[in-house]
Amino acid sequence: MAVAPVRRFQSARVAEFKESVIREMTRLALQHGAVNLAQGFPDFAAPAEIKAAAQQAIADDLNQYSITWGAKPFRDAIRDYYRRFYQLDLDPEREITVCCGATEGMIASLLALLNPGDEVVVFEPFYENYWPDSQLSGAVCRYVPLRPPEWALDLDAVRAVFTKRSRAVILNSPNNPTGKVFSRDELTAVARLCEEYDCLLITDEIYEHIIFDGERHLPPITLPGMRERCVLVNSLSKTFSVTGWRVGWVIAPPDLTNPIRKVHDFLTVGAAAPLQQAGVTALNLPDPYFTGLAQNYQTKRDLLLGILEKTGFRPMVPKGAYYILCDISSFGFKDDLECCRHLIESVGVAAVPGSSFFSDPADGSNLTRFCFAKRTETLRSAAERLERLGGPSR
Ligand code: GLN
Repeated sequence: MAVAPVRRFQSARVAEFKESVIREMTRLALQHGAVNLAQGFPDFAAPAEIKAAAQQAIADDLNQYSITWGAKPFRDAIRDYYRRFYQLDLDPEREITVCCGATEGMIASLLALLNPGDEVVVFEPFYENYWPDSQLSGAVCRYVPLRPPEWALDLDAVRAVFTKRSRAVILNSPNNPTGKVFSRDELTAVARLCEEYDCLLITDEIYEHIIFDGERHLPPITLPGMRERCVLVNSLSKTFSVTGWRVGWVIAPPDLTNPIRKVHDFLTVGAAAPLQQAGVTALNLPDPYFTGLAQNYQTKRDLLLGILEKTGFRPMVPKGAYYILCDISSFGFKDDLECCRHLIESVGVAAVPGSSFFSDPADGSNLTRFCFAKRTETLRSAAERLERLGGPSR
């Protein structure tokens, strides 16, 4: 009997989606045995205390669902952590939702708070998830370019993209991919625009402790008048070198937390229960852990900056996060994709093409992003391989 042909099923929502370029680079790096300086994750060990806490939680049989919006001890630890670092008083019963990573925190928030046709202001270059997250929520991104090499914020340009349909601003500081740390003045100016246009300020603060040269992270939720309109997204991933745990959280006022919790519940039910318990240990690590993290990353940043400069890249110095954006113009490649392909296949080092951080790929075609969340040996091995690149203007 003939088999009935199956129609091509695909939601119109994903018609324009492409494979994540960042994750594609990891796949290609594995395939070609390249040193992976593409996807942002550490190749060194997570703190021993938190690994032991996760093992203990499993041994203690914390193996069933936690409360959907987060195990009580973990939400309490999140409250204590924000008190300790930012003198912020949160109600864990009504203002905190634990999610499967900041990735889920962001999409759950957008799905819960936006409607089709709403506009979201995004600073460009931007972390690649914000566009698909907005798309899945039916919202439209309006981009504001940051100006290289300082990635300065042009307030007139910001104001120009706000319209009566603006509902949210997504702001990531310290920033991926630029390493920009938004200043108090810049954050205050963005906050005032959010008030003027009655918008939410959705902040991705996942690199809060990875910050250099004496810069300090300022959560916009702590600015006057912003407690009611900020949605703060964060996770354990970067601060505790556990990107595979997928444990994050969203902080928002109760009227915003309610819909976020509903979406979160139906999307994922909850984050891994034993890992939330280990999160209690993580968030309670003593202060030197956090200062040491920043110091270690600053050393790695400086090492990779030196390597890239020596190789002929023109790196821009990041003030935070763990990436270095480089201008590749001097090498004479057709574009960033050709450069990254050559780097993976012939040099043996993977980076992320700059175009993946821009709405118009042409705007990032002279850039590549290298991640320095790697052991010294890994960075040195990348240095040896980069010598094969043969310097500018091959
Ligand atoms: N945030 C990391 C990066 O930019 C990891 C991205 C991902 O694969 N989720 O590389």
